[in-house]
Amino acid sequence: MEVLIIEDERLIAQTIADLLETQGDRGTIALDGPTGLRAGLERPWDAIILDVMLPGMDGFQVLRELRGRGVRTPVLMLTARTQLDDRVTGLDSGADYYLTKPFEAKELLACVRMLTRRREKAAPAVLTFGDLRLELSSCLLCCGERSVRLSRKEFEIMGLLLERQGQNVSKDAILQKVWGAGESADGGSVEVYISFLRKKLQHLGSRCAIRTQRTQGYRLEVEA
Ligand code: CA
Repeated sequence: MEVLIIEDERLIAQTIADLLETQGDRGTIALDGPTGLRAGLERPWDAIILDVMLPGMDGFQVLRELRGRGVRTPVLMLTARTQLDDRVTGLDSGADYYLTKPFEAKELLACVRMLTRRREKAAPAVLTFGDLRLELSSCLLCCGERSVRLSRKEFEIMGLLLERQGQNVSKDAILQKVWGAGESADGGSVEVYISFLRKKLQHLGSRCAIRTQRTQGYRLEVEA
């Protein structure tokens, strides 16, 4: 299991990584908020362990940004603070579980196991439509024997189209979900990524196509 650890106290971060290693998992450490956010968006993780008090950007901001951009990875929030307000803010921001420092090694490992179990139950590992299959853990878009790897933005847009199962997805919805508040993008950016995806669908030889709607949105269709 690949776990992203966003924690500025090196000793704690390393302790968590070592603990994970004892059960055969791998922890990657990010020491501040912005670095953690970038790493969280860069590739899929099995779980994210996120400290609240971080330099650059606090854990709540990192989490809101990740969730806002469609990252559904289970998140365990870690903090020295025990106030109820913090717990509520954390859960409101999209955390799955909350653990206060200092914590017992066993407690942390149990939380991580619980998070990933919950994820396996809650979220499908693949999204399908027509002859298409999108593997969520590897970002592979497959059709029969063929497959292509999607970039993060292509993956998120394709995920939206597949989740809607042939329903219209507006450009605004795509912009909101795939591009964060700090990134400049407009309808043209969406069009560029849609054209990348259309090329990939052709390459796969899929019978599915992305149709442009008159209302400036897109939907997946299976061609007869
Ligand atoms: Ca901290």
